[in-house]
Amino acid sequence: MKNEMKMEFDAAAENEGFARVAAAAFVTPLDPTLEEAADIKTAVSEAVTNAVIHAYPDWPADQPRKVEMKCVVDGDVLSIEIADHGIGIPDVEKAMEPLYSTCPDKDRSGMGFAFMEAFMDDLEVESAVGQGTVVRMKKKLGTQPFLEEEE
Ligand code: ATP
Ligand code: MG
Repeated sequence: MKNEMKMEFDAAAENEGFARVAAAAFVTPLDPTLEEAADIKTAVSEAVTNAVIHAYPDWPADQPRKVEMKCVVDGDVLSIEIADHGIGIPDVEKAMEPLYSTCPDKDRSGMGFAFMEAFMDDLEVESAVGQGTVVRMKKKLGTQPFLEEEE
């Protein structure tokens, strides 16, 4: 079974919760475990928060600040793409290093990409300065061992 959804929203903090819940709701037909659903929500939350916080600094008020999210379910594999058209990342490899942040002063710990990597099976980041960033993540569902209840 293949199923796809796409949505576009403003890069605003209040849309982070919406995107997270939308992704989790989209995968419900796959019957994810609570842990899988939590992992997906965390990964989406980190990617969208990055777009909200980092992609559009000092953006002119009359210019669009959009985030696109595409989710595809193919069999038991979920793929999520989160894209912005903001400033881009000059050195993706460095940005993905745990604890690396360009604004540690603003309560950022530099762990967003590390969390996406930890909670999903696959993470790819493509970015071009002045054009924007695309984060691609994959997760195979149903890999967690079934825990039998103790008698
Ligand atoms: P945390 O996620 O722990 O709050 P953080 O956002 O700084 O801190 P990461 O999410 O790992 O840490 O991102 C690392 C760095 O990559 C950011 O500090 C920022 O410089 C850059 N970055 C991440 N996403 C984007 C984006 N969509 N557009 C521009 N720069 C980005
Ligand atoms: Mg972050």
